[in-house]
Amino acid sequence: MYTDKTQLFSTSWDVIVIGAGNAGLCAAITAAEAGRRVLVIESAPRDMRGGNTRHTRNLRAMHEEPTDILTDAYSFEEYFDDLMRVTKGVTNEALAALTLEKSAELTSWLSHRGVRFQPALSGTLNLGRTNAFFLGGGRALLNSLCHYAEDIGISFIYDTPVKELLIDDGMCRGLLFEGHDTPLEARQFILTAGGFEANLDWLAEGWGDAAKNFLVRGTPYNKGVMLRSLLDQGAVPVGSLDQCHAVAIDARAPKYDGGIASRIDGVPFSLVVNKQAERFYDEGEDFWPKRYAIWGRLVAGQPDQTAYAILDSAGVKRFMPSVFTPIQSETIEGLAGELGLAPEALAKTVVQFNDACPEGPIDQSILDGKATTGLTPEKTNWAAPVAIPPFYGFPLRPGITFTYMGVEVNDKAQILFNDGKAATNLFAAGEIMAGNILGQGYLAGIGMTIGAVFGRIAGEEAAKRLQNK
Ligand SMILES: Cc1cc2nc3c(=O)[nH]c(=O)nc-3n(C[C@H](O)[C@H](O)[C@H](O)COP(=O)(O)OP(=O)(O)OC[C@H]3O[C@@H](n4cnc5c(N)ncnc54)[C@H](O)[C@@H]3O)c2cc1C
Repeated sequence: MYTDKTQLFSTSWDVIVIGAGNAGLCAAITAAEAGRRVLVIESAPRDMRGGNTRHTRNLRAMHEEPTDILTDAYSFEEYFDDLMRVTKGVTNEALAALTLEKSAELTSWLSHRGVRFQPALSGTLNLGRTNAFFLGGGRALLNSLCHYAEDIGISFIYDTPVKELLIDDGMCRGLLFEGHDTPLEARQFILTAGGFEANLDWLAEGWGDAAKNFLVRGTPYNKGVMLRSLLDQGAVPVGSLDQCHAVAIDARAPKYDGGIASRIDGVPFSLVVNKQAERFYDEGEDFWPKRYAIWGRLVAGQPDQTAYAILDSAGVKRFMPSVFTPIQSETIEGLAGELGLAPEALAKTVVQFNDACPEGPIDQSILDGKATTGLTPEKTNWAAPVAIPPFYGFPLRPGITFTYMGVEVNDKAQILFNDGKAATNLFAAGEIMAGNILGQGYLAGIGMTIGAVFGRIAGEEAAKRLQNK
């Protein structure tokens, strides 16, 4: 590991990888295994390394028959249909097909480099067939890949944000660091610096001031500096500025890096109101794994980007306890006071809701059709009165997971430029180019799949171009 920047300048690098998350490590390892001298540059300090990859749990992989990690089969056709459904066709079909085909190799490739997977999970998420879960989560995957990378001679420098790329006619001549005027050169560059979800000013260009109230679920280091540098120098953008993955999280979560624990999964069993104590969307529209990703955007559309999930003592037992203790009161009016809502307004909404609920118990294991009647909006499943004290409330905010806008690439992970040409020595993998495949919507686990597949392609292509060195 290099700690002194001057050492960087005395080494002749074959490949520089910018960003030490999943995509960057897969790229660096592939290039190093092909015999190249590789440097990974990371803006975070070593103990915060790994970007959003630290927060992940699984990747989605195609397989024709049961494996030691995944049950049954998940065919190319089924995976492709799933992707088309969530993106509504906003995808580059050729790159999507390439990603899915190559996803079949990932668990074995990663396992051979130290990553361990859990046996298939059963349970409410029902992902044991499609998604391979990392034993110990994304942090363990990351540490395994970093140890392996160090063992095969890859150099790392941490705490060193790259400020700018020096690109000339599709060729990267070098890069600049903060506070250092001499460009660092290499023969090939791979950009794996994530999205720009931690750059609230840039998000505000698409979302307006509402973006200032977003909480960032992942790393504070994904500010899109590399993406901006590429776009400013003529790289072709892909995906739109206001597309992002966002979920409803507890408003008490930290501004950055709260991870998955801050998500509130009780919405289907709640009544969700805004600051005026009014409901604004069908909380019971579908099973939660199919709906949680729309709630970030829904909360973002409410005044001050705030909402409140209100439950009674029966509802609060219907989902996994949250990391944040709910705010509690013996009365709805008392709860409103604690949450900063007008007591009469919340009491009125709750009474109207309770009066509109059907008779009899709900069944959360199915779409039970137990719907309210006469409300706008109706709650179409699991509508049970909020009636048994004590009452509970969770304050909600939009929690942004990642952005979709990135740079266009081809099937060799080369970045494409506005003059129609592919870059000669500049590749991209991971979130910075995921919008090629995931133009909108989300399919759980595909972020890590795109990063690992394109990271490997980028590493291989960068290494290949140095064959005659
Ligand atoms: C809470 C949460 C849970 C998630 N769960 C899953 C999941 O289970 N499965 C899944 O598929 N996806 C999941 N995702 C999405 C997933 O995290 C991303 O798709 C994936 O990690 C992207 O990998 P990456 O290598 O492109 O980016 P990252 O892992 O974010 O790595 C980018 C790296 O680049 C560095 N960097 C940025 N700018 C610079 C610069 N200028 N100079 C140097 N370094 C720089 C950053 O510090 C960072 O380390 C989740 C995301 C979050 C936030």
